[in-house]
Amino acid sequence: MSSAAPTPQVTVLAGPTSVGKSTLSRYIRTTFPQVHFSVSATTRPARPGEVDGEDYLFLSDEEFDRLLEAEAFLEWAVVHQRYRYGTLRSTVDEAQAEGKNVLLEIDLQGARQVRQRLPEAHFVFLAPPTFEDLVRRLTGRGTESAEEQQRRLETARIELAAEPEFDVTIINDDVDRAARELIAQMGIELTTNA
Ligand code: 5GP
Repeated sequence: MSSAAPTPQVTVLAGPTSVGKSTLSRYIRTTFPQVHFSVSATTRPARPGEVDGEDYLFLSDEEFDRLLEAEAFLEWAVVHQRYRYGTLRSTVDEAQAEGKNVLLEIDLQGARQVRQRLPEAHFVFLAPPTFEDLVRRLTGRGTESAEEQQRRLETARIELAAEPEFDVTIINDDVDRAARELIAQMGIELTTNA
């Protein structure tokens, strides 16, 4: 590339199951709209209130297969042994072309693929204050079956061990504080006191 301007950064946010990644993302989306999120594709059905093209691109298995075949994904993974999720290369390319610093909120398997394919990206690990805190969040959510909770707990243990693979760790002790730290890590200056 001959342009003198630095390529805008890609920031990957990953962390263990139930660490509060989606709460943090939601908070950033509403409080700091200047942060540009990559919209992932998924085969998971939309939850009430989720908007196609905003929260996710909700795809059928066939549509996801077609994109896989076309090598359209920068990364993709089966999350919680259920649905497929992936970041489209075009989503990241478009953000970069528009000069936007883009945030990928993805799972650990996906983060590892991005590390392989886009090593210059910035990798941020979201960690719980303590393991006990993570267990409380996991079991307190009450939306999953006991079997599902057990499965997620096991996944969380394995995922926590991945922390050293990341450039920085942010402790999710307070959503506003964690959000501001992440935004600073992205190199975005906050101009408001929002
Ligand atoms: P949820 O179904 O609750 O929205 O998300 C479940 C998990 O999928 C979260 O851990 C989230 O980080 C992960 N996820 C969301 N989008 C992607 C993606 O594009 N790629 C990967 N690998 N994981 C994703």
